[in-house]
Amino acid sequence: MQAVARAVTVRVPAKINVQLGVGQRREDGYHDLATVFHAVSLFDEVTATDGLPGSGIRIHVEGRDAQHVPLGEQNLAYKAADALATYADVVPDVQLSIKKSIPVAGGLAGGSADAAGALLACDALWRTGLGREELDTLAGRLGADVTFSLHGGTAIGTGKGEQLTPALISGHYHWVLGISDEGLSTPEVYQRCDRLRESKIIRDPEVSEDLMSALRRGDAEGVGAALTNDLQPAAIAMRPQLEIVLEAGLSHGALGAVVSGSGPTCAFLARDPEQALDIAAGLMSSGLVSDALTAEGPVHGARIVE
Ligand code: ATP
Repeated sequence: MQAVARAVTVRVPAKINVQLGVGQRREDGYHDLATVFHAVSLFDEVTATDGLPGSGIRIHVEGRDAQHVPLGEQNLAYKAADALATYADVVPDVQLSIKKSIPVAGGLAGGSADAAGALLACDALWRTGLGREELDTLAGRLGADVTFSLHGGTAIGTGKGEQLTPALISGHYHWVLGISDEGLSTPEVYQRCDRLRESKIIRDPEVSEDLMSALRRGDAEGVGAALTNDLQPAAIAMRPQLEIVLEAGLSHGALGAVVSGSGPTCAFLARDPEQALDIAAGLMSSGLVSDALTAEGPVHGARIVE
């Protein structure tokens, strides 16, 4: 009888940054961040299946923007499986099938989500049994957002963003994500940010107390008023249309609007699910975005679903 290949599927959410404070560029090229991550209900799925001996790590991608996702060693899910295999001393013969719903290069950490998904799926498939701390360490080495993709919820990120402190918040928040057809490159947005700030004194970023207390109270209006992103001027300089998109969402009654991460996705906070649908419909009919999705947060991080 032939053995049936084992498979583990993990669901991982997109993130938005309800605050993204960016410090000076450091010697190592990174920037110190003070950010508030928030996981929203837009998920990629990563399935890890036993591969034939000697097959190595194989990547298959389907779904939104699949044509823009690299299939080889450049894929963050590949890197994650490879890093785990080295750490746990496993021969990585595995097929990673990625079902994308998170737009690529959208500022929603889609690649990081797939890396976190691959870590968790391979950890279960290979029964490496790593503890949360070891997975966190591997995740932190793979990318600044990967640790948050594992955890989900709402969390403060410092350092490059990988040093996480869970935030105690109340309430559920209803978001609209205004999606652009063409992504923005995260390194290019940071470079533009540095150039816009040349000759300015940049203070160390700090998490906004107004934002955190609004999140603790479950005060959506307060959260909407406190959304900020230090990369937003750079993203707008590179894609001036984003300013019009943000204004359009506000004119449809959003409580707040912000570019998510390095953009170009714009996140709008709505009062309730009905208003979120109205804002999404308004954005779609304006023709300013290629898609408008509703999502709620916070949601859990990477989780095995089957
Ligand atoms: P972040 O918000 O973390 O800065 P992003 O959401 O803007 O990231 P990603 O979707 O993670 O951007 O993609 C950035 C680049 O990473 C893509 O242009 C793509 O070439 C590459 N990439 C590597 N692996 C993946 C993956 N599994 N899914 C999507 N993109 C990937």
